Parts: sequence; structure tokens; C-alpha cells
Amino acid sequence: MSEWIPWRAQYLSIILECEYPTLAEECQVCHQATADIRCLSCQTSYMWCRPCAVKSHIHNPFHRIQKWTGQFYDDITLHDLGYVFNLGHNGAPCPNNMAEHGGDWFCDQFTIVHSTGIFIHRLRWCRCNDASLEDQHLQLLWSHIFPSTVTKPQTGFTFDVLEHFLIDSLECKTSARSFYQKLCWFSNNAFPDSLPDHYWELLRVSWMWRDLSNRKRAGFGHDTERYPEHGELAVFCPACPQLEINLPGDWKDLYNELVLHYIWERLDTLIIIKGILWLCIMWSTETLWLST
Ligand SMILES: [Zn+2]
Ligand SMILES: [Zn+2]
Ligand SMILES: [Zn+2]
Repeated sequence: MSEWIPWRAQYLSIILECEYPTLAEECQVCHQATADIRCLSCQTSYMWCRPCAVKSHIHNPFHRIQKWTGQFYDDITLHDLGYVFNLGHNGAPCPNNMAEHGGDWFCDQFTIVHSTGIFIHRLRWCRCNDASLEDQHLQLLWSHIFPSTVTKPQTGFTFDVLEHFLIDSLECKTSARSFYQKLCWFSNNAFPDSLPDHYWELLRVSWMWRDLSNRKRAGFGHDTERYPEHGELAVFCPACPQLEINLPGDWKDLYNELVLHYIWERLDTLIIIKGILWLCIMWSTETLWLST
């Protein structure tokens, strides 16, 4: 810290400079229109006109965009700029689907939950190769989005956010509610409650994701002929009783000792407690011996 203190004022100055409007008179892509859009997620200080901002984000639908109002930068979304999330053609519109809004093959308000927030996009389905309405949820999967429902999905979770939630819940013990609230704060830190509540969808989808991850890691992903038998997805626990390893073969005849033995084996995972208990027993035995 002492090394940083002399630099503190300069750090603050640079952080404030980064928020200062880097206004460019013309769009830095087409060099024709006035530039009034910037992106907080891109690692550039580019300013774009609206159509060029959309084109530059064909493969980055989860970036945070702002527009210059003349006095300050205000949040705006790619949806507001006319962005369409196209499925099946690497961001390009499907040649067999010319729909512009509504209907079974175009969704005007599709919610996608990502690790950087909650996004609402127009979504155009792909109609190639005799695509059916029943298979629409699979199109989302091909785009790394887990559908919240199989039938007519209107919400999806990116694989990225599901992996984030899995690690957060394991390592940080984050609850689903807290995790979802965090995403709301990312999306709108002034009014996080104004965002749609997909907490129950997150819960359901994260259970499916965990189940699929377990199957994949247990080696069942490629073996479509065989499904996991009872206990085959369980993680091996070396502290659990194993015959002739940490449990004597005649344990059934040792019923009286079994209870103590079982407790002792359970404590095996808590080495510190075991050590403390051992020290206490030694200390009390010694005290007893000394006092007699
Ligand atoms: Zn432009
Ligand atoms: Zn961007
Ligand atoms: Zn197509």
C-alpha cells in the first residue's frame, strides 16, 4: 500500500479521464455519419454511428453500449439500435427466414441471461434443413444458450453464465437468488428490480446443467448406449468407510466398537478436530494419572 499511496491521485485522475467523453466527430468505421455511440465492453475507445455500432457487435451481443445525449452518456441497448440475434449462420440472417418481427420464427423480445447481465434481443430462428418449431430449443443450444423451456422458449441462459454460477455456488457458496441479483445490478445498478425476474428459471436450468456436466465428466456423453446406473455419477469419497481399507472386515461382529469406530472415521475428514480431541484425551488421561 505504501508504494501505491504516492500514485493514488494520478490513479484517480486516469480513472476519471477514462469516463470523460472521447467524442469523435465522425464514425470511426464508415467515416461519414456522426458518431454518438460508445461501448464500455470493447477494449477500444471507438465511437460509432448507430448502424456501424450494430455491425461491429454482430459477434458481441452482450456488450454494454452508451449514447452521447449532448450532455452525458446514457445507457442504451443493442436492441434499441435495431440489433437482431440471428441463429444458425454465425450472426448473419437466415436466407430462408426473412421475418422482421412477430410470428413463430421471429421473437421480438427474447431474454438472454449472460455472466455480464440480462439482455433482451430480437431473435431470428433459422429455417434451413426443414427446421421445425419443436426443435427451436436445440437451435439455442447450438449457439451456446441453454433454453429455459423445451416448448417455445422465450428465455435462455448462456453456457458461460451457467458455468459461472456453478463455480460461484461451489467456491463462494453464492445462492441462486444472490447470483441473479448480482446480474440485475450489472444490468441496471440504479433500478435492479426493474429487470425481469428469472430466478426460478435459473434454478431449474442450473440443475439440468449440473446433471449434464456430471454425466459428461463421468464419461457418459459419448456412450449413448448406456445410461448411468445407481451411484455411477457419485464422486468417490476416500473418507467414507471402505471394507479392509478404513473399515475392518469383521465390523458386523464388533457392534459395540462399531459406533465409536464409525464416529472416528467420520472425524477423519476433520483432522483438526481429531487432533484436538486426541490432545484432550491425552491431557485428561495425564491429569487423571497425575492426580491419582
Ligand atoms: Zn458509421
Ligand atoms: Zn463492444
Ligand atoms: Zn438458416
